[in-house]
Amino acid sequence: MLPRDHEGRLLLKGVPRPQLLAWAAEQGLRPGQADALWAALYRKLRSDFAVMPELDRAVRDGLAATTRLDALRLESVKQAADGTSKLVFETDDGAAVESVLIPGPERATLCVSSQVGCAMNCQFCLTATMGLARNLGAAEIVDQLVIARRRFPDVWISNVVFMGMGEPLHNLDQVLPAIDVMVDDHGLGLSQRRVTVSTSGLVPQIRRLVAESPAQLAVSINATTDEVRDAIMPVNRKYPLAVLFAALRELPLARRARVTLEYVLLAGVNDSLADAERLAEWVRGLPCKLNLIPWNPHPGSEFRRPEPEQVAAFKAHLQGMRLNTSIRATRGDDTMAACGQLGRAPAESPRRPRRPHGLPVIAS
Ligand code: SAH
Repeated sequence: MLPRDHEGRLLLKGVPRPQLLAWAAEQGLRPGQADALWAALYRKLRSDFAVMPELDRAVRDGLAATTRLDALRLESVKQAADGTSKLVFETDDGAAVESVLIPGPERATLCVSSQVGCAMNCQFCLTATMGLARNLGAAEIVDQLVIARRRFPDVWISNVVFMGMGEPLHNLDQVLPAIDVMVDDHGLGLSQRRVTVSTSGLVPQIRRLVAESPAQLAVSINATTDEVRDAIMPVNRKYPLAVLFAALRELPLARRARVTLEYVLLAGVNDSLADAERLAEWVRGLPCKLNLIPWNPHPGSEFRRPEPEQVAAFKAHLQGMRLNTSIRATRGDDTMAACGQLGRAPAESPRRPRRPHGLPVIAS
């Protein structure tokens, strides 16, 4: 059975192909017409039953009466000076969902959202200030990619990262089918190696993701002591660093597979060379790639981005210890489209205190 929208129409998007084809067969569609429906959704990226010449007239009319194509409406596209575009979608219930299209030299990456807001309460992240409004449905997750491809037909969007708004591992029941649709060969056709799910470190859900999905895993580490991580990422009080790293070491990763470890650099909080050394200790022997993200500011936050020299020294120190380390270039920050800048700005919403509680070190 397919999920329904608030008017009772069946949502065609976000349902993996075997289930959609089975449903279509139950509705009396011939196999060729069911395949054509899948292609219309995910290859032709159709937005209107009226223009689906690949479907018989009777099939089209039947579907138009009972089902629904797009789950999201593209509300605006804001292009940053560096070529990054922030796509703002509207849901049926009036919520804003944001994705960021990051073009590269040959291929582009789409950063998608999995929730409206987020419940993790990471102290350095703008989305956290919204709290969690709700999970996105699989259709709303898949539509971010479908509508981005439709809007940018000349851009080859080959990569998807679940690094927009939300904690994807809090919404695995919708994220897993959405990934299945994204990597389906007959449709959106992303390579499994080019879909990455990023988590703040929910240990049981990490195990489930790896067991049930072909996607790549990224984990936001962001601190090297429990004292600091407890203060900036409350999830650490439940799954402290030792528990998190023990779980990562035990993952049944495919040969040559590496976990990406993200590390947001916060000046005076987690960016010392002693931190780099502790980080190297934590990851010793774990097949991983380190991705350093100099913190992106947002109004109302008291954190600071380290100076470029400090970022370079931190990276060099890790590389000196033979760790695969890269710095994530800051993209889209003039349109508030960079990491940790998605969501309603505090000025538009009731402010909650942003002073990090009990932070051991905040250099001024
Ligand atoms: N909830 C998931 C994915 C969303 S955040 C997670 O926590 O991984 C994607 C990345 O952006 C995470 O690594 C997060 O730590 C980082 N991030 C959040 N706010 C940021 C900011 N203001 N500047 C830079 N990176 C930030």
